[in-house]
Amino acid sequence: MPCKISTLLAQAGNRRDPATGAISAPIYQTASFSHPALGQSTGFDYSRSSNPTRLVLEETLAAADGGFKGFAFASGLAAIDTVLHLFHSGDSIVVTEDLYGGTFRLFEKVFRPLGLNALYVDTSDLSAVEQALQRPGVRAIFLETPTNPLLKIADIRAISALARARGILTLVDNTFLTPVFQRPIALGADIVLYSATKYLAGHNDVVAGAAVVRTAELASQIGFFQNAIGSILGPQDAWLTIRGLKTLPLRLQKQQENAQQIAVWLTSHPRVRNVRYPGLPQHPGHDILNREHSGYGGMLAFEVDEAARVPAILAGVKVFLFAESLGGVESLITYPAVQTHADMDPALRARLGINDRLVRLSVGVEDGNDLVDDLRAVL
Ligand code: PLP
Repeated sequence: MPCKISTLLAQAGNRRDPATGAISAPIYQTASFSHPALGQSTGFDYSRSSNPTRLVLEETLAAADGGFKGFAFASGLAAIDTVLHLFHSGDSIVVTEDLYGGTFRLFEKVFRPLGLNALYVDTSDLSAVEQALQRPGVRAIFLETPTNPLLKIADIRAISALARARGILTLVDNTFLTPVFQRPIALGADIVLYSATKYLAGHNDVVAGAAVVRTAELASQIGFFQNAIGSILGPQDAWLTIRGLKTLPLRLQKQQENAQQIAVWLTSHPRVRNVRYPGLPQHPGHDILNREHSGYGGMLAFEVDEAARVPAILAGVKVFLFAESLGGVESLITYPAVQTHADMDPALRARLGINDRLVRLSVGVEDGNDLVDDLRAVL
Protein backbone atom coordinates (compact mmCIF):
# COMPACT_ATOMS: atom_id res chain seq x y z
CA MET A 1 0.00 0.00 0.00
CA PRO A 2 1.63 3.30 -1.04
CA CYS A 3 1.54 5.85 1.76
CA LYS A 4 3.09 9.09 2.96
CA ILE A 5 6.31 9.02 4.97
CA SER A 6 4.64 9.82 8.31
CA THR A 7 2.29 6.82 7.91
CA LEU A 8 5.15 4.58 6.85
CA LEU A 9 7.29 5.57 9.82
CA ALA A 10 4.53 5.51 12.44
CA GLN A 11 3.69 1.96 11.36
CA ALA A 12 7.30 0.70 11.15
CA GLY A 13 7.50 -2.92 12.26
CA ASN A 14 3.74 -3.42 12.56
CA ARG A 15 2.12 -6.61 11.26
CA ARG A 16 5.42 -8.50 11.45
CA ASP A 17 4.48 -11.03 14.12
CA PRO A 18 1.36 -12.99 13.07
CA ALA A 19 1.88 -15.51 15.91
CA THR A 20 1.10 -12.89 18.59
CA GLY A 21 -0.02 -9.76 16.71
CA ALA A 22 2.61 -7.73 18.57
CA ILE A 23 2.37 -4.09 17.48
CA SER A 24 5.92 -3.28 18.53
CA ALA A 25 8.44 -5.26 16.48
CA PRO A 26 10.04 -7.90 18.75
CA ILE A 27 13.71 -7.62 19.71
CA TYR A 28 15.36 -10.79 18.42
CA GLN A 29 18.24 -10.90 20.89
CA THR A 30 19.92 -13.90 19.34
CA ALA A 31 23.28 -14.43 17.70
CA SER A 32 22.30 -17.54 15.77
CA PHE A 33 19.22 -19.27 14.30
CA SER A 34 18.57 -23.03 14.11
CA HIS A 35 17.92 -24.66 10.76
CA PRO A 36 14.83 -26.85 10.09
CA ALA A 37 16.98 -29.40 8.20
CA LEU A 38 20.15 -29.74 6.16
CA GLY A 39 20.08 -27.26 3.31
CA GLN A 40 17.13 -25.34 4.81
CA SER A 41 16.99 -21.96 6.54
CA THR A 42 14.32 -19.77 8.12
CA GLY A 43 15.93 -16.96 6.17
CA PHE A 44 18.16 -16.16 9.15
CA ASP A 45 21.39 -17.96 9.98
CA TYR A 46 23.64 -15.70 12.03
CA SER A 47 22.92 -12.16 13.21
CA ARG A 48 25.99 -10.57 11.63
CA SER A 49 24.50 -11.55 8.24
CA SER A 50 20.89 -10.69 9.09
CA ASN A 51 18.67 -10.27 12.14
CA PRO A 52 14.86 -9.85 12.07
CA THR A 53 14.87 -6.68 14.23
CA ARG A 54 17.61 -5.09 12.17
CA LEU A 55 15.74 -6.12 9.03
CA VAL A 56 12.62 -4.19 10.12
CA LEU A 57 14.79 -1.09 10.52
CA GLU A 58 16.60 -1.67 7.22
CA GLU A 59 13.35 -2.16 5.29
CA THR A 60 11.84 0.95 6.88
CA LEU A 61 14.90 3.04 5.98
CA ALA A 62 14.85 1.78 2.37
CA ALA A 63 11.15 2.63 2.01
CA ALA A 64 11.57 6.06 3.64
CA ASP A 65 14.37 7.00 1.24
CA GLY A 66 12.87 5.30 -1.82
CA GLY A 67 15.96 3.11 -2.22
CA PHE A 68 16.45 -0.52 -3.25
CA LYS A 69 17.84 -1.60 0.12
CA GLY A 70 18.78 -0.22 3.52
CA PHE A 71 21.58 -1.23 5.89
CA ALA A 72 21.96 -0.50 9.59
CA PHE A 73 25.39 -0.05 11.13
CA ALA A 74 26.99 0.34 14.55
CA SER A 75 27.44 4.10 14.00
CA GLY A 76 27.32 6.73 11.30
CA LEU A 77 31.08 6.42 10.85
CA ALA A 78 30.78 2.62 10.60
CA ALA A 79 28.27 3.16 7.76
CA ILE A 80 30.61 5.58 5.94
CA ASP A 81 33.63 3.33 6.53
CA THR A 82 31.82 0.29 5.14
CA VAL A 83 30.61 2.17 2.06
CA LEU A 84 34.10 3.55 1.37
CA HIS A 85 35.26 -0.05 0.86
CA LEU A 86 33.68 0.27 -2.59
CA PHE A 87 36.79 2.23 -3.58
CA HIS A 88 40.42 1.24 -4.07
CA SER A 89 43.91 2.54 -3.67
CA GLY A 90 44.53 5.18 -6.35
CA ASP A 91 40.88 6.28 -6.50
CA SER A 92 39.88 9.85 -5.69
CA ILE A 93 36.65 11.09 -4.11
CA VAL A 94 35.45 14.68 -4.27
CA VAL A 95 34.37 15.56 -0.73
CA THR A 96 32.49 18.50 0.84
CA GLU A 97 35.18 20.61 2.47
CA ASP A 98 33.44 21.62 5.69
CA LEU A 99 32.01 18.26 6.64
CA TYR A 100 31.67 16.61 10.05
CA GLY A 101 35.14 16.39 11.65
CA GLY A 102 34.88 12.63 12.25
CA THR A 103 34.22 12.00 8.56
CA PHE A 104 37.18 14.24 7.70
CA ARG A 105 39.33 12.20 10.16
CA LEU A 106 38.16 8.95 8.52
CA PHE A 107 39.14 10.21 5.05
CA GLU A 108 42.45 11.69 6.21
CA LYS A 109 43.74 9.34 8.91
CA VAL A 110 42.27 5.99 7.83
CA PHE A 111 41.65 5.99 4.07
CA ARG A 112 44.36 8.36 2.80
CA PRO A 113 47.15 6.09 4.16
CA LEU A 114 45.43 3.25 2.27
CA GLY A 115 45.66 5.22 -0.97
CA LEU A 116 42.16 6.72 -1.23
CA ASN A 117 42.49 10.40 -2.07
CA ALA A 118 39.90 12.93 -0.83
CA LEU A 119 39.67 16.15 -2.88
CA TYR A 120 37.92 18.78 -0.76
CA VAL A 121 35.74 21.38 -2.46
CA ASP A 122 33.01 23.80 -1.50
CA THR A 123 30.10 21.68 -2.73
CA SER A 124 27.71 24.63 -2.48
CA ASP A 125 29.65 25.99 -5.50
CA LEU A 126 28.44 24.06 -8.56
CA SER A 127 31.23 25.19 -10.87
CA ALA A 128 33.89 24.17 -8.31
CA VAL A 129 32.26 20.73 -8.16
CA GLU A 130 32.14 20.48 -11.95
CA GLN A 131 35.86 21.22 -12.19
CA ALA A 132 36.77 18.79 -9.41
CA LEU A 133 34.82 15.94 -11.04
CA GLN A 134 37.07 16.26 -14.09
CA ARG A 135 40.21 15.42 -12.13
CA PRO A 136 41.69 12.04 -13.12
CA GLY A 137 40.79 9.03 -10.98
CA VAL A 138 37.62 10.54 -9.46
CA ARG A 139 35.19 7.68 -8.73
CA ALA A 140 32.64 9.38 -6.49
CA ILE A 141 31.43 12.58 -4.90
CA PHE A 142 30.64 12.61 -1.19
CA LEU A 143 28.23 15.38 -0.25
CA GLU A 144 27.30 16.40 3.22
CA THR A 145 24.34 18.75 2.87
CA PRO A 146 23.55 20.78 4.87
CA THR A 147 27.13 20.77 6.10
CA ASN A 148 28.16 20.37 9.71
CA PRO A 149 28.67 23.00 11.16
CA LEU A 150 28.35 25.74 8.51
CA LEU A 151 24.96 24.68 7.11
CA LYS A 152 25.99 25.10 3.47
CA ILE A 153 23.64 23.56 0.91
CA ALA A 154 24.65 21.54 -2.16
CA ASP A 155 22.39 21.13 -5.18
CA ILE A 156 22.02 17.33 -5.11
CA ARG A 157 20.01 17.21 -8.34
CA ALA A 158 22.52 19.21 -10.40
CA ILE A 159 25.58 17.51 -8.88
CA SER A 160 24.31 13.96 -9.24
CA ALA A 161 23.45 14.69 -12.90
CA LEU A 162 27.04 15.87 -13.48
CA ALA A 163 28.39 12.81 -11.68
CA ARG A 164 26.13 10.37 -13.55
CA ALA A 165 27.22 11.81 -16.89
CA ARG A 166 30.79 10.86 -15.95
CA GLY A 167 29.88 7.45 -14.51
CA ILE A 168 30.70 8.65 -10.98
CA LEU A 169 28.72 7.69 -7.85
CA THR A 170 26.99 10.33 -5.71
CA LEU A 171 26.99 9.69 -1.95
CA VAL A 172 24.98 11.99 0.32
CA ASP A 173 25.22 12.30 4.09
CA ASN A 174 21.60 13.18 4.84
CA THR A 175 21.97 13.23 8.63
CA PHE A 176 20.67 16.80 9.07
CA LEU A 177 17.50 16.79 6.98
CA THR A 178 16.58 13.05 6.94
CA PRO A 179 14.16 11.57 4.35
CA VAL A 180 11.38 13.64 5.91
CA PHE A 181 12.86 16.84 4.40
CA GLN A 182 15.36 15.67 1.76
CA ARG A 183 15.27 12.52 -0.37
CA PRO A 184 18.60 12.32 -2.22
CA ILE A 185 17.80 9.17 -4.22
CA ALA A 186 14.79 10.88 -5.83
CA LEU A 187 17.18 13.71 -6.79
CA GLY A 188 19.65 11.31 -8.45
CA ALA A 189 22.00 10.19 -5.66
CA ASP A 190 23.21 6.58 -5.45
CA ILE A 191 23.88 6.10 -1.73
CA VAL A 192 22.41 7.95 1.23
CA LEU A 193 24.23 7.85 4.55
CA TYR A 194 23.15 8.65 8.09
CA SER A 195 24.38 9.07 11.54
CA ALA A 196 21.15 7.49 12.85
CA THR A 197 22.39 8.55 16.29
CA LYS A 198 20.98 11.94 15.41
CA TYR A 199 17.46 12.68 14.09
CA LEU A 200 16.50 9.15 13.01
CA ALA A 201 16.79 7.67 16.52
CA GLY A 202 16.30 11.13 17.99
CA HIS A 203 16.59 10.67 21.76
CA ASN A 204 20.35 10.79 22.47
CA ASP A 205 20.16 7.20 23.70
CA VAL A 206 21.72 5.17 20.90
CA VAL A 207 24.71 5.33 18.54
CA ALA A 208 23.72 4.01 15.11
CA GLY A 209 24.34 4.46 11.41
CA ALA A 210 22.58 3.70 8.15
CA ALA A 211 23.01 3.53 4.40
CA VAL A 212 20.33 3.28 1.71
CA VAL A 213 21.31 2.38 -1.84
CA ARG A 214 19.62 2.99 -5.17
CA THR A 215 20.37 -0.23 -7.08
CA ALA A 216 20.45 -4.00 -6.66
CA GLU A 217 24.12 -3.99 -7.66
CA LEU A 218 25.07 -1.54 -4.90
CA ALA A 219 22.88 -3.50 -2.45
CA SER A 220 24.81 -6.65 -3.18
CA GLN A 221 28.18 -4.88 -2.78
CA ILE A 222 27.27 -3.10 0.47
CA GLY A 223 25.54 -6.24 1.80
CA PHE A 224 28.75 -8.17 1.19
CA PHE A 225 30.86 -5.54 2.99
CA GLN A 226 28.43 -5.23 5.90
CA ASN A 227 28.67 -8.97 6.53
CA ALA A 228 32.37 -9.28 5.73
CA ILE A 229 33.38 -6.33 7.94
CA GLY A 230 30.77 -6.95 10.64
CA SER A 231 30.00 -3.29 11.30
CA ILE A 232 26.36 -4.10 12.14
CA LEU A 233 23.83 -2.54 14.51
CA GLY A 234 22.73 -4.83 17.37
CA PRO A 235 19.05 -5.76 17.85
CA GLN A 236 18.42 -3.60 20.95
CA ASP A 237 19.81 -0.52 19.25
CA ALA A 238 17.94 -1.36 16.03
CA TRP A 239 14.73 -1.46 18.08
CA LEU A 240 15.47 1.90 19.71
CA THR A 241 16.07 3.37 16.26
CA ILE A 242 12.76 1.94 14.95
CA ARG A 243 10.98 3.45 17.93
CA GLY A 244 12.62 6.80 17.27
CA LEU A 245 11.68 6.75 13.58
CA LYS A 246 7.98 6.55 14.42
CA THR A 247 7.96 10.15 15.65
CA LEU A 248 10.62 11.58 13.31
CA PRO A 249 8.24 13.78 11.24
CA LEU A 250 6.60 15.18 14.38
CA ARG A 251 9.90 15.89 16.06
CA LEU A 252 11.42 17.53 13.00
CA GLN A 253 8.42 19.82 12.49
CA LYS A 254 8.73 21.12 16.06
CA GLN A 255 12.53 21.34 15.88
CA GLN A 256 12.26 23.32 12.65
CA GLU A 257 9.63 25.65 14.11
CA ASN A 258 11.86 26.32 17.14
CA ALA A 259 14.98 26.75 15.00
CA GLN A 260 13.21 29.28 12.79
CA GLN A 261 12.08 31.28 15.85
CA ILE A 262 15.60 31.25 17.33
CA ALA A 263 17.27 32.13 14.01
CA VAL A 264 14.99 35.12 13.44
CA TRP A 265 15.57 36.32 17.00
CA LEU A 266 19.36 35.88 16.75
CA THR A 267 19.64 37.91 13.53
CA SER A 268 18.66 41.09 15.37
CA HIS A 269 20.81 40.51 18.48
CA PRO A 270 23.63 43.09 18.72
CA ARG A 271 26.23 40.54 19.90
CA VAL A 272 25.47 38.01 17.16
CA ARG A 273 26.94 37.81 13.66
CA ASN A 274 26.42 35.51 10.65
CA VAL A 275 23.38 33.50 11.65
CA ARG A 276 23.47 30.39 9.49
CA TYR A 277 20.04 28.82 9.20
CA PRO A 278 18.80 27.55 5.81
CA GLY A 279 15.24 28.58 6.68
CA LEU A 280 16.19 32.27 6.60
CA PRO A 281 15.44 33.78 3.15
CA GLN A 282 18.91 35.39 3.06
CA HIS A 283 20.66 31.99 3.47
CA PRO A 284 22.49 31.17 0.20
CA GLY A 285 21.00 27.65 0.06
CA HIS A 286 17.42 28.72 0.83
CA ASP A 287 16.25 28.66 -2.79
CA ILE A 288 17.69 25.20 -3.46
CA LEU A 289 15.85 23.85 -0.43
CA ASN A 290 12.64 25.54 -1.53
CA ARG A 291 12.97 23.95 -4.97
CA GLU A 292 14.06 20.46 -4.06
CA HIS A 293 13.20 19.75 -0.45
CA SER A 294 10.40 20.12 2.01
CA GLY A 295 12.11 21.59 5.06
CA TYR A 296 15.11 23.39 6.54
CA GLY A 297 15.78 21.32 9.64
CA GLY A 298 16.60 22.09 13.25
CA MET A 299 20.32 22.93 13.07
CA LEU A 300 21.77 26.41 13.09
CA ALA A 301 25.08 28.13 13.76
CA PHE A 302 26.08 31.68 14.57
CA GLU A 303 29.05 33.75 15.64
CA VAL A 304 29.26 35.85 18.76
CA ASP A 305 31.05 39.18 18.47
CA GLU A 306 33.94 38.11 20.75
CA ALA A 307 35.39 34.63 21.34
CA ALA A 308 35.96 35.56 24.99
CA ARG A 309 32.19 35.42 25.49
CA VAL A 310 31.88 31.75 24.48
CA PRO A 311 32.96 30.06 27.76
CA ALA A 312 30.34 31.96 29.76
CA ILE A 313 27.65 31.10 27.19
CA LEU A 314 28.49 27.39 27.32
CA ALA A 315 28.60 27.39 31.13
CA GLY A 316 25.57 29.63 31.58
CA VAL A 317 22.83 27.94 29.53
CA LYS A 318 20.07 26.39 31.64
CA VAL A 319 17.86 24.76 28.99
CA PHE A 320 20.39 24.03 26.23
CA LEU A 321 22.94 21.39 27.24
CA PHE A 322 26.59 21.95 26.40
CA ALA A 323 27.29 18.67 24.62
CA GLU A 324 28.55 17.13 21.41
CA SER A 325 25.85 15.61 19.21
CA LEU A 326 22.65 16.75 17.58
CA GLY A 327 19.21 15.75 16.40
CA GLY A 328 17.74 14.65 19.74
CA VAL A 329 14.66 15.97 21.51
CA GLU A 330 16.87 17.96 23.90
CA SER A 331 18.47 21.17 22.64
CA LEU A 332 22.27 21.08 22.60
CA ILE A 333 24.88 23.79 22.19
CA THR A 334 28.24 22.84 20.70
CA TYR A 335 31.53 24.65 20.13
CA PRO A 336 32.77 23.12 16.83
CA ALA A 337 36.35 24.47 16.93
CA VAL A 338 37.14 22.52 20.11
CA GLN A 339 34.60 19.69 19.90
CA THR A 340 33.32 18.24 16.62
CA HIS A 341 36.10 19.71 14.45
CA ALA A 342 39.09 19.51 16.79
CA ASP A 343 40.79 17.06 14.39
CA MET A 344 40.81 19.58 11.56
CA ASP A 345 43.97 21.59 11.00
CA PRO A 346 43.49 25.07 12.62
CA ALA A 347 44.49 26.87 9.41
CA LEU A 348 41.90 24.89 7.44
CA ARG A 349 39.28 25.54 10.11
CA ALA A 350 40.05 29.26 9.89
CA ARG A 351 39.80 29.26 6.08
CA LEU A 352 36.44 27.49 6.18
CA GLY A 353 35.00 29.80 8.83
CA ILE A 354 34.93 27.31 11.71
CA ASN A 355 36.40 29.97 13.99
CA ASP A 356 36.51 30.38 17.77
CA ARG A 357 33.42 32.61 17.71
CA LEU A 358 31.23 29.99 16.04
CA VAL A 359 28.61 28.24 18.12
CA ARG A 360 26.29 25.50 16.82
CA LEU A 361 22.79 24.77 18.08
CA SER A 362 20.85 21.56 17.72
CA VAL A 363 17.36 22.73 18.48
CA GLY A 364 15.09 20.32 20.32
CA VAL A 365 11.36 20.03 20.89
CA GLU A 366 11.14 22.18 24.02
CA ASP A 367 9.04 25.34 24.17
CA GLY A 368 10.53 27.84 21.69
CA ASN A 369 10.17 30.80 24.08
CA ASP A 370 12.11 28.94 26.79
CA LEU A 371 14.95 28.37 24.31
CA VAL A 372 15.03 32.03 23.25
CA ASP A 373 14.95 33.16 26.91
CA ASP A 374 17.86 30.84 27.68
CA LEU A 375 19.96 32.35 24.89
CA ARG A 376 18.90 35.88 25.79
CA ALA A 377 20.15 35.38 29.34
CA VAL A 378 23.63 34.16 28.29
CA LEU A 379 24.10 36.61 25.41
N1 PLP B 1 27.68 12.51 9.67
C1 PLP B 1 27.33 13.65 10.30
C2 PLP B 1 26.76 14.80 9.50
C3 PLP B 1 27.50 13.76 11.68
O1 PLP B 1 27.15 14.91 12.30
C4 PLP B 1 28.04 12.65 12.40
C5 PLP B 1 28.26 12.72 13.85
O2 PLP B 1 28.16 13.76 14.48
C6 PLP B 1 28.42 11.51 11.69
C7 PLP B 1 28.20 11.46 10.34
C8 PLP B 1 29.03 10.33 12.40
O3 PLP B 1 28.02 9.62 13.06
P1 PLP B 1 28.26 8.74 14.38
O4 PLP B 1 28.62 9.69 15.48
O5 PLP B 1 26.93 8.07 14.57
O6 PLP B 1 29.35 7.78 14.07
